[in-house]
Amino acid sequence: MPFLRILIGGVILIGAVITFYLSATLTDRFDKLREAPQDNSQWNLAQLEVDYLKLAGATHLAEMAAHEAGGAEASGAERFSPPVGDALDELRKAFDIFYSRVYVLEESKDAEAFLANAELRRNQDGLKMFLHEMVPAMDGPDAGLLAALPRFRSRLDSISTLPRAIALVSVPIRAKLSDGQRLEITNLLKAIALVALVVLIALMLAFATLLLQKSELNRKTQTIARGNERLASTLRASLDAIIVIDDSGQVMDFNGSAENIFGHKRADVIGRPISQVIIPERFRKAHLEGMARFREGRQSKIVDTGRLNLLALHADGSEFQTETSITAVPGENGLNFIAYIRDITEEVANRQELHAARDSALEAYREKSKFFAVMSHEMRTPLNGIISSLDLMRDTDLTERQRHFLQIANDSSDILLGHINDVLDIAKIESEGRQSRLEPVDLPALMSSLTENLRSLADRRNTRIGWEAIGLDAPYVCCDPRGIRQVLLNLMSNAIKFTSSGQVDLRVMAGPGQTDGHCQLTFSVTDTGIGISAEDQKRIFDDFVTVDNTYERTSTGTGLGLGIARRLVAAMGGRLVVESRPRKGSTFSFTIEVPKAKAGQTPDDLTPAETLAPIIPRRVLVVEDNEVNRELLHVTLTGDGHTVALASDGFEGVHMAAKHPYDVILMDISMPNMDGVKATRMIRESRGLSSATPIYAVTAHAMPEERAKFDKAGMEGCLIKPLRRADLRKMMANIHRAGHEATETAAAMPPIDLAQFGDVGSLLGPDKFRDQLAKFQSEGDTLTHEIRAEIARGNLRAARALTHRLAGSCATFGAMRLHSDLKSLETACKAGDSDSAEKIADGLDPVWLLTKDAIASA
Ligand code: ADP
Repeated sequence: MPFLRILIGGVILIGAVITFYLSATLTDRFDKLREAPQDNSQWNLAQLEVDYLKLAGATHLAEMAAHEAGGAEASGAERFSPPVGDALDELRKAFDIFYSRVYVLEESKDAEAFLANAELRRNQDGLKMFLHEMVPAMDGPDAGLLAALPRFRSRLDSISTLPRAIALVSVPIRAKLSDGQRLEITNLLKAIALVALVVLIALMLAFATLLLQKSELNRKTQTIARGNERLASTLRASLDAIIVIDDSGQVMDFNGSAENIFGHKRADVIGRPISQVIIPERFRKAHLEGMARFREGRQSKIVDTGRLNLLALHADGSEFQTETSITAVPGENGLNFIAYIRDITEEVANRQELHAARDSALEAYREKSKFFAVMSHEMRTPLNGIISSLDLMRDTDLTERQRHFLQIANDSSDILLGHINDVLDIAKIESEGRQSRLEPVDLPALMSSLTENLRSLADRRNTRIGWEAIGLDAPYVCCDPRGIRQVLLNLMSNAIKFTSSGQVDLRVMAGPGQTDGHCQLTFSVTDTGIGISAEDQKRIFDDFVTVDNTYERTSTGTGLGLGIARRLVAAMGGRLVVESRPRKGSTFSFTIEVPKAKAGQTPDDLTPAETLAPIIPRRVLVVEDNEVNRELLHVTLTGDGHTVALASDGFEGVHMAAKHPYDVILMDISMPNMDGVKATRMIRESRGLSSATPIYAVTAHAMPEERAKFDKAGMEGCLIKPLRRADLRKMMANIHRAGHEATETAAAMPPIDLAQFGDVGSLLGPDKFRDQLAKFQSEGDTLTHEIRAEIARGNLRAARALTHRLAGSCATFGAMRLHSDLKSLETACKAGDSDSAEKIADGLDPVWLLTKDAIASA
């Protein structure tokens, strides 16, 4: 658009200049034409002939006057002859006129055009020659002229044809000249017309552009007006208060909402300093300083910094919370500030209410957790009594009928324990969140042991049970074994529960993972049982849902099993799904992505249950306030050959631990006066004989946060009430006499701990002791040999299992040095360090020989 304007302007300017020039040229031409009458060569040429005739006439008169003067002189008649002088003067005048007429032609503006004609120039020259010839006579005295008259006459006659010839020749020249002038003027007029047309078009374009600009301007003005109107109505309608202040802090605008929020009338506040209108007095100084700072360095903590929570002052003097955002915009005189202000009093109140609601919900949640913990304690403690008593009762002489009832009592307490565990599991998963612990797991081993454990249950329902692992190329995968085990256990138990005379299959299919070093595991549990209707499939994963199937219902579940499984699978990153057809069977499955175990990474423990380790007699301190539980633990532990000391509260426990060396301390947690956690701390801090002895919590408090507390206090592990004999044995078999072993080096150890050797002897009695000792000796001979062979074959896993077994026997008979070597060997096998394993294994034989010698001489 600017380019077009420049172009049009340029055209008009150039057009004007050209028009001016052409007009000037035209005026000049017209001027020349106006001068034409004075310079009319045509007329001059015509006059030339007239002047010639006049000259001829004057010549004739002069001749006559001369003639008469000559006759009068002769007759004396002086009075009839005209004076000769006058006639000669007339002649001279006529000659002069003729002379100048001839030269006028040469001096005329068209002379050039005329003289270009050869004939005309020749005639002209003829005239000029005559004139020059006669000039002396004309300019001379009268007498001379009179004398020259005859010659003058004859010369005059000789040129008589020339003036006419000149006039005739000049006519076409004249016409040609006139044509030229006319053409020139016509062209000039045409050029002027053309330029005028161009200028006119340019002017019209300029006019059109102006019109366009005007309408554009109108449109813009309207848009701006509408925008302003909209802005004004936005300002008016805005729910937020909008206040505009100038550079000096004076109010320039105050919208309707501002009036409502602050209780001021717009008219009252316009022009007043904002600090006096809406800012509480104690903040005014800071406000003014802030404004000054902003004016100086354009730095501000509140301008253009987003939303701020600021206190504001109402017209009635009260203060209220606002959410304010302030922005600076350029105004006519310096910067203006626009403040958008929202009264958030209600919001703050709501938020506080919400926080209170959240706090009370959290409180309720804590209450619920507490409730679970208390429930767990309150229910598990008596259940502990029941289950332990039933366990012990089984070892006594019972009639068949009593054994039957005992079985019923046992099954019922198992179910009750299952229910409590279910509820606690949910609480546990929820409070543990989504973290599942990854560790190397031997999946086939896990599946096999799970299936074996459930086999008797399946047998009772005449159902076959099996497992298979497909596509597992790595020996171990990293997953959460407890989680997997629990999920599969729940699914398998359900499958067996709802299938009679059928088939239950546990399957894992491994496939490539989406990330490197990972694999995808799809677990499925398929049964040929009663199946689940499509309707019921939608709700069985919800908590406390049991499908009512009156005829075939055989279970006694809480309806939490699948809820637990669903949560655990979700925690492992999978989703538990079911496919089922009523009376055909069901398949529960889930897929998880897990890392493959790295080379050398092996499962952490081979539990004593799996390796069938013999019981190692220990010195046990039981700290328990509940008399029944204390008694039951005493009987159970002594029944397994351990030496048991009893303490009935924390104080007594600490006292006894300071005075006696124990191999393990079993510590109840909730006890009056001093609880188990505190007692543990005191034992650890004391310099007593059992300050380094492993301490196990025995508690019904199974919540994870409590376990963390136990760890922190220095406890080794935790046994959950009700205590089962198997769990207790497992724990006892796992105890490494940490305190003693850590302080003694193998070389300094005697091959046999005679005190322990003696203890075992007196515990077993001489016959049993001899038998066991003989077994130990032959086991030692075989195993030391087999361990070396397995290591030589590179089969560290098998070597580790054998080592573990022999170490257990060594611990029983106090064969400390060999035990220590075997432990180091076990560690090397576990780490996959075959070099160290080989070295240690080579040293086993001499130590074993020493041990045998020591036994023989003991
Ligand atoms: P419960 O502890 O009662 O077994 P679950 O949450 O484990 O609770 O299961 C909920 C319901 O889903 C069960 O009551 C049963 O009706 C149904 N169900 C679960 N597994 C199977 C299965 N394999 N076959 C048929 N029904 C099943």
